[in-house]
Amino acid sequence: MIYLDNAASTRLDDEVLAEMKPYLTEYYGNAQSQHSAGRACANALVAARDKIAKYIGCTPEEVYFVSGGTEAGNTALKGVCAIHKKGHLVLSAIEHASLAESAADMKKLGFDVTLVPPENDGAVSAESIANALRENTIFCSVMAANNETGVIQPVEEIGKICRDRGIFFYTDCVQSAGYARLPYEHADALGFSAHKFYGPKGTGVLVIKKGSKVFRLISGGMQEHGFRGGTVNTAAIVGMAAAYEKSCLSRENVNAQINGLRHKFVTRVLTEIEGTSLNGALDKTLPSIANISFDGCDGANLLVLLDLNGVCVSTGAACSAGAVAPSDTLTAMGCRLSQAKGAIRFSFGKHNTEEEIDLAVDLLKSAVQKIRKN
Ligand code: PLP
Repeated sequence: MIYLDNAASTRLDDEVLAEMKPYLTEYYGNAQSQHSAGRACANALVAARDKIAKYIGCTPEEVYFVSGGTEAGNTALKGVCAIHKKGHLVLSAIEHASLAESAADMKKLGFDVTLVPPENDGAVSAESIANALRENTIFCSVMAANNETGVIQPVEEIGKICRDRGIFFYTDCVQSAGYARLPYEHADALGFSAHKFYGPKGTGVLVIKKGSKVFRLISGGMQEHGFRGGTVNTAAIVGMAAAYEKSCLSRENVNAQINGLRHKFVTRVLTEIEGTSLNGALDKTLPSIANISFDGCDGANLLVLLDLNGVCVSTGAACSAGAVAPSDTLTAMGCRLSQAKGAIRFSFGKHNTEEEIDLAVDLLKSAVQKIRKN
């Protein structure tokens, strides 16, 4: 199998797995328990929280362990709405469903929502966000980098604008965590998932800056400073901390490696396959993602054909009611319908090799030819 879907999830790092194992088999107590088995877990959580805070540049008290980016985004958006009880929300039109759907839910409860489209290059301008803010805006969300195109968003600028206006700013860092420094200084809150940087699935972080107010979403025990109830998954959190530390320490090398693989892949695809175009310039995107449209091809068909040949990729298309709708992100960027429908997201990771890249391009060439002939 050639796995080019690392933006969906990554393979667990072997060293990370080794760090997790004792917390599955040896130290399996409940971190809330008073006895030694519980304390062993509680100590591991303290160490994991300290480590993550150190690499983000925040305090450990600002780190909340959650189940991932979806919960982080839901908690931030709904938790701010719960405090204000009414008001206006501004989101980029290319946010992940965890934010977009949360905003849609809040709209049903009476909040106003404005979605700000990106420019044709895939970035949402700070100016257009500033223009959308109103007197009663309580929350703004713009992701650090888009999950379909990899385009990096101007969150520092947007964060400053929101801070000056006293508006809570959340930035979804699920795709950028591990690849780029997190914009902690510029946001009230941010979130990410461990499985995007070779950590385990089902765990992530929500950082809430001291002084920024969010009402809790999950009530229960006193876990996570009383903010998020539920028995804590010690092994996963230990793994996330190890994976995050490793990805921060090896960032330059891994980014260079992945960028090299992507450059080779994109260059070959754009020169050897006619009727291809890149959605999102490479110098404006994370090194891990290349989104390419194939004229005369349906992305969903291409995905299936590649899968039959052992290549795993993704489309930005969403399946609803049996019909495949083109990606909202690409259409919001002004792509033609055919271009949006014929798009594939290739996402690269540190376990990919040059040989895989060459083979994937060869297989892609024949798949595209086959689809275009039919
Ligand atoms: N935000 C972005 C940008 C994502 O790409 C994803 C998942 O792919 C999420 C949020 C949700 O993350 P999770 O499924 O780990 O909760």
